[in-house]
Amino acid sequence: MKYATAIMLLLLPFIWNATAEVDDFNGIDLTVKAFYSDYILKYDTIPDPTYTYHKTIQIRMTEKIPDKLLTDTTVMQLGEYYHYVTDYMGIFALPWVEISEKDIGNLKIEMPMLSVAPLRKQSGNTDYTLIRYSYLSPSCLMEDDEPLYQCPQFYAMTDFQNYVFVRKGETDSLRITFDIPESLFYLRSDMALAENEYDPDRRTVSATTDCPPSFFLYYKPAFLNKTFDAGKSLNIDLLWENVDTTRSSLTNIEIMPLAKSTETDTAQTVIKRTIEKIEQLAEDLDTVPSGKLEMVVTKQVLHGVMDTVDRSWTWGRAYTDKGNRLIIMDKSDFHTAMPAHEILHLYFSVPEKDSPDWTPYERFIVSEALIEYSATALTALTTGKDGFESMFRYLEKNGYDRKAAMKASEMETNSAFSSEGSSSWLYYEYIPWHLHQAAQKSGGDEAMLEKVIRLLVRGTNCGWDKSIVGKDVAKIRNKIGI
Ligand SMILES: [Zn+2]
Repeated sequence: MKYATAIMLLLLPFIWNATAEVDDFNGIDLTVKAFYSDYILKYDTIPDPTYTYHKTIQIRMTEKIPDKLLTDTTVMQLGEYYHYVTDYMGIFALPWVEISEKDIGNLKIEMPMLSVAPLRKQSGNTDYTLIRYSYLSPSCLMEDDEPLYQCPQFYAMTDFQNYVFVRKGETDSLRITFDIPESLFYLRSDMALAENEYDPDRRTVSATTDCPPSFFLYYKPAFLNKTFDAGKSLNIDLLWENVDTTRSSLTNIEIMPLAKSTETDTAQTVIKRTIEKIEQLAEDLDTVPSGKLEMVVTKQVLHGVMDTVDRSWTWGRAYTDKGNRLIIMDKSDFHTAMPAHEILHLYFSVPEKDSPDWTPYERFIVSEALIEYSATALTALTTGKDGFESMFRYLEKNGYDRKAAMKASEMETNSAFSSEGSSSWLYYEYIPWHLHQAAQKSGGDEAMLEKVIRLLVRGTNCGWDKSIVGKDVAKIRNKIGI
């Protein structure tokens, strides 16, 4: 046995070399690596564009693109995304580089406003192009227009954003190799990451460019990690931001003393109670989620889709459909109905986006309005907090009446910032509030919650077959009055 192992060890380097040579992966090959550099502390100029401005940690992306993927019409680009709202300035800066076929030989690089240093290298046999750039995390939280502290969500790549190097309209194989020190970051993704048995820092994921994984890096010292079981068979892995925001700055993250970190105990109770209540109400569900659920609670904006037409910001999201269950939400929303809202998404499916049977309005009723109503009613049951009153105040303040709701119901999108106007208030405030009103006239919110969950269960069990649940959705529309 020992002898055989020794031979294996001797052979291993050669086997590795051999596989490296014959690696016939023919897609976009991305390596994400974290490293430490104090270069910028020692020099006040940047002689080499491969250095970025972050004082300590940087992320380096290396993309290998087979030349055969590049044609006359190829346009590859990266984007820089900014969020700027009252309380937050989140910047997900990705280097902006556009390559067209004619530039390949002499790559033109436009320096973006922040970070990066793209380099183009050609392999010896010039059958692929290597592009390398560094990333720094300039995201920070704002207060009164002043930067407050550095986001410990060091890097966020969501599938909503333009993805690394995307060939517009093409579906290419995508392989991502993470070389991220476990001691420095929690790495989270909505797709399963394959581990390397020799090197725990190294993880890989295979996908396609039209359906890429989302992934996030969380600066480890700034988070508490707690694992516990919840409901019938969910194992929760919770990351809880533990930053002392009053003493942190752009260059320094101060951690809360561990003795004061009772917040995670409260969070655990909230999550467990929510899951238990959902499973109790949805006992007829054919498939109940089981296994790992990763949750991250951190104070920041998650992503933005920003182009000329559609702008949106999200403070909470459940990733459910790519293998890994992952919920990320803003910390200030944890004590609202948001945890229940995101957890409910794990249990119930929605009608297909391109289903001819359901109008966008009906689909958003099912996918968001009923979830928000259920979350608010359920949170009232488990914590005693009334979230309905603030919905009413919001509607009143903005003059969102039935006439405006009729108009918003005809929109194709469910967005706070679309060219057609805003419709998100219809699904997150107007409909839940009117269901709450209807509940007051017949049996109260607890009875209404049971009814709504029963509908979500039946819809999910039959894959939203309109011949089966169409009538029930019509009944809900009757109650809402639109
Ligand atoms: Zn939702």
